[in-house]
Amino acid sequence: MPISRRILLTTLGIGAVPPALAALLGRARPADAASPASDPAWRLSDSAWRERLSPESYAVLRREATEAPFSSALNQEKRPGTYLCAGCGLPLFSSQAKYDSGTGWPSFFAALPESIGSKRDFKLIVPRTEYHCRRCGGHQGHVFNDGPRPTGKRYCNNGVALTFIPSDS
Ligand SMILES: [Zn+2]
Repeated sequence: MPISRRILLTTLGIGAVPPALAALLGRARPADAASPASDPAWRLSDSAWRERLSPESYAVLRREATEAPFSSALNQEKRPGTYLCAGCGLPLFSSQAKYDSGTGWPSFFAALPESIGSKRDFKLIVPRTEYHCRRCGGHQGHVFNDGPRPTGKRYCNNGVALTFIPSDS
């Protein structure tokens, strides 16, 4: 069992895990792995990713960490432009879908077509929908159903997993 999960279970006071819960946790993906890359050219080794990324981006993209809220300058970014995966440069979001959710993370109501993949995760026990860059598999954030119209979705994204390119650049 990964240490983080053991600590979580201990914290919750459920060191002796009931079999049903153990089965549920057993189905969850390990907490420290990104999703598979759809593009073979982006199936890089862990050390190659470490070399390529800043420590903060590596932790989010490759280890599914979550950055501290209100820590990203992209929260305040309001210029027209495109948000790319910080891992491989694939365009993921348009500024036209960005809005201020008040959560402290850059938020979007839609992703660009064919740009992301998703999976359920159980890191907080309650199921959530994780999403990642379809091309390199790098973790981006979680999507919730409390977003604005027209989609009702809230893509809650880590700023360090994105690179912003203003359209006038
Ligand atoms: Zn990517």
